[in-house]
Amino acid sequence: MNLYKQAADLIKKKSNIVAFTGAGISVESGIPDFRSSGGLWERFDPNEYAEYSAFLKWPEKFWTMHSELSEMVLTAEPNPAHLALATLESMGKLTTVITQNIDFLHQRAGSSRVLELHGTGETASCLSCEKQYDRVTVEKIRETAHVPRCTVCDGLIKPNVVLFSELPPVDVFEEARRALLKADLVIIIGSSLSVYPAAALPSVVSFANTPLIIINEEPTSMDNYANVVIQGKAGEIFPRIINALNENSNFN
Ligand code: NAD
Repeated sequence: MNLYKQAADLIKKKSNIVAFTGAGISVESGIPDFRSSGGLWERFDPNEYAEYSAFLKWPEKFWTMHSELSEMVLTAEPNPAHLALATLESMGKLTTVITQNIDFLHQRAGSSRVLELHGTGETASCLSCEKQYDRVTVEKIRETAHVPRCTVCDGLIKPNVVLFSELPPVDVFEEARRALLKADLVIIIGSSLSVYPAAALPSVVSFANTPLIIINEEPTSMDNYANVVIQGKAGEIFPRIINALNENSNFN
């Protein structure tokens, strides 16, 4: 049996699928991941550009990288993999997307319950007085200052994204853990499963004995636990799985 059919067979009787996504799902939307060749880390050392204490020391470096990433995010469109997850939700099969991404593409594709483990670039906060800003306001401030400062107290403004050495928001992490424990199928898409603590979350499926599908361009540390592993581009693989699902007229 081909892998697409095997994946479709696992999906067809499920009603509480949880997807766990990483940067790889958005690569075909034009946003590079961090580790692959051509990825952002080839040009921006994460210890200087994306680590919390480095942000406090050299905020200008962070904003240089963030401006580049934001430009890509703003021009990106959801690709067939994001859309397929929204389709599975509309079919009554998928309930939750847990993502490490900050690009908002799942929401734009139509997924309604998206747990953002690494926060979002859509909002920002003052690190001193905690005033909240939306992205557009921060962009306005940045028209005259590369490093934006709080309009109330002159503190540093930081997008509400989780940098290295920061912890993911505890409430979101806990909600994600509970969703994974209750899932009747987990699908991991486009994650190297190497950024902790987020990468540790899907391991709950191994002791809960939950069926697992992995779609990624390269092998991952959880491939041994998966019922189906499909290596390749998520945006090409997912439509084939949805086709295989639709070919089976009795997919409920
Ligand atoms: P990662 O960069 O560590 O791994 C991405 C994985 O996706 C790799 O294993 C790669 O082989 C695979 N991949 C690449 N293109 C693919 C494709 N077309 N289809 C399927 N798989 C593909 O990413 P990660 O595990 O998500 O962790 C990196 C961190 O970087 C995350 O914490 C995330 O917050 C952040 N990040 C986010 C974005 C975004 O929001 N789009 C982009 C870059 C990095």
